[in-house]
Amino acid sequence: MSIKTQILQLVKLQEIELDIKNINKLISKIPEELDVLERQRNEFEKKIEAARNAIETLQKQYRAGESDSQAIVSRMEKEEDKLRSVKNNKEYQALLAGIEHLKTDQAAIEDRMLECLEEIEGAEATLSEQSAALKRFEVKLSRERDAINRKADQAKKELDEKQKTCSGLEDSIDPAFIKRYRHVRAAKAGGVAIAPVHNAVCKGCHMNIPPQVYNDLQRFEALTVCPKCQRIIYWEMDPSDEEAADESAEK
Ligand SMILES: [Zn+2]
Repeated sequence: MSIKTQILQLVKLQEIELDIKNINKLISKIPEELDVLERQRNEFEKKIEAARNAIETLQKQYRAGESDSQAIVSRMEKEEDKLRSVKNNKEYQALLAGIEHLKTDQAAIEDRMLECLEEIEGAEATLSEQSAALKRFEVKLSRERDAINRKADQAKKELDEKQKTCSGLEDSIDPAFIKRYRHVRAAKAGGVAIAPVHNAVCKGCHMNIPPQVYNDLQRFEALTVCPKCQRIIYWEMDPSDEEAADESAEK
């Protein structure tokens, strides 16, 4: 295989390896995407749980009010019985005052019980709103979860194919080229180890390369490295020149 072909294979290898890097990034984000949905669902469940607890507490308060109220009623009955057998006015007045006091207590308890009923109604409305919201969210959740899982499956399939293509390509390239490529790639944060040169400018570091190197490069006789960034470089016709060439060919 000619040096030019090998270099072009290397460019293809790099493209696929960059794709693989992006696919892996996408796959690594999937658990977090699923977690976000799960956390949203937990928020609904927490609100529902809070509304249920509130209803339970209020119902207990209401029942406590009922038994307090009954206790007062029976105390009042006893006091009223006493009224009938009372001997003097002072005692009579004291009993009446006691009964009045019990009536005030009773009224306060009944007020609180009414408040409880209103609060129960409010909490029940919240509960049914949140339950309905959860139901709607569950529909959305299952759709989104399916979409995420489909995306993950698709990505894994693509990854698999690209890895196969990669190893096929690797086998077809001179091991010395691969070694150099791997060495540079490991040192470059963006993973770009091979860069085209347009009009004597290395597209890896945007620096000019010496004219002699540029001349040699266009002959594709050896693996060349950019003197500035150490990336493997190859000559590629500048895209704007290519358009110009196409246009003149059409004429
Ligand atoms: Zn360079």
